[in-house]
Amino acid sequence: SSIFSDRVKKILLDAEKCVKVPQSYSGELFTGVDLGTAYVVLMVVDSTGKPVAGAYKFAQVVKDGVVVDFTGAMRIVKELKANIEERLNTELLKAAAAYPPETGKSVVKSHFYVTEGAGFEVLNMVDEPTAANYVLNISDGAVVDIGGGTTGIAVVKNGEVVYTADEPTGGTHFSLVIAGAKKISFEEAEEFKKDPFNKKEVIALVKPCIQKVAEIIRRHIRGFKVDAVYLVGGTCCLDGIEDIISKEIDLPVYKPINPFYVTPVGIALSC
Ligand code: ATP
Repeated sequence: SSIFSDRVKKILLDAEKCVKVPQSYSGELFTGVDLGTAYVVLMVVDSTGKPVAGAYKFAQVVKDGVVVDFTGAMRIVKELKANIEERLNTELLKAAAAYPPETGKSVVKSHFYVTEGAGFEVLNMVDEPTAANYVLNISDGAVVDIGGGTTGIAVVKNGEVVYTADEPTGGTHFSLVIAGAKKISFEEAEEFKKDPFNKKEVIALVKPCIQKVAEIIRRHIRGFKVDAVYLVGGTCCLDGIEDIISKEIDLPVYKPINPFYVTPVGIALSC
């Protein structure tokens, strides 16, 4: 993770800290709304771009990037907004929301309406990899977002996203494999997977899933001169995932601390 600048490290440490305890802020506040397959995340930055508060909830309101429960999604965004407002003792007004790359206008609209319906003025709609790169500031390489339901790939050239793809494989599949192997429920498998105490067993169980993700990455970056891959998304919290992918695709693979927060913070920064 040492290739990431001090700015990136500080942003991601602040993000983790402010979800637990809201931080002091200066000027206007901007909220990033990330409607994911596994988590709905709200992250708030101040006028200097510092993450100052955040909240998230495990929810099944989005499937493969598409909002499948509009009312439920709006209720959760409202709930998380109210929770942060209470802790910051101020109102959150302005927001940006994100959508997966390669989706149609209707998907972008549904993410917009959920955010607006929850009481925000929506200043911007941004695609997820572009949002992630607001934090990482990669000028050349591939940003790979391994989330709950999907893996998003974005090739970046001279700081611009030039190619995007989204494939339906992610951490949810990892949990299903663990549930099957250990004969436990999906919810138990989610907990088992995230417990650092189980990391050796988890990585052994999900190695084939990681290799599948690596294969997806390889397929999409073929044809571009990509010389490094940068990992974001909750599934990249798995210890050692970067080494397995690196070996499979034969390229350097870097992951920042707290990869879970990269996209939500980037969405807020896009305001
Ligand atoms: P998508 O991007 O596919 O719509 P999402 O936005 O909900 O989904 P993220 O919030 O980036 O995706 O990541 C959620 C996934 O990350 C879940 O599968 C979750 O189990 C996994 N995850 C979160 N924390 C950890 C952890 N510490 N170790 C392993 N996996 C984790």
